[in-house]
Amino acid sequence: MKAGIHPGYQTATVTCSCGNTFETGSVKEEIRVEVCSECHPFYTGRQRFAAADGRVDRFNKKYGLTEEGQE
Ligand SMILES: [Zn+2]
Repeated sequence: MKAGIHPGYQTATVTCSCGNTFETGSVKEEIRVEVCSECHPFYTGRQRFAAADGRVDRFNKKYGLTEEGQE
């Protein structure tokens, strides 16, 4: 990825609560997320559901699935 094409736009490191990290383009240098495509079954298996509903994060927070890392 070349820098300087879009001012302020660069490669950002995304850190997920599961420990996974990946890179994406953003104006920020660092991004933290609670779920990513690597650790959430909704994203891996039922992507349309998660994208359309948008309640997955609230569900996870309510039951502490991501914050507590329950097994
Ligand atoms: Zn993750």
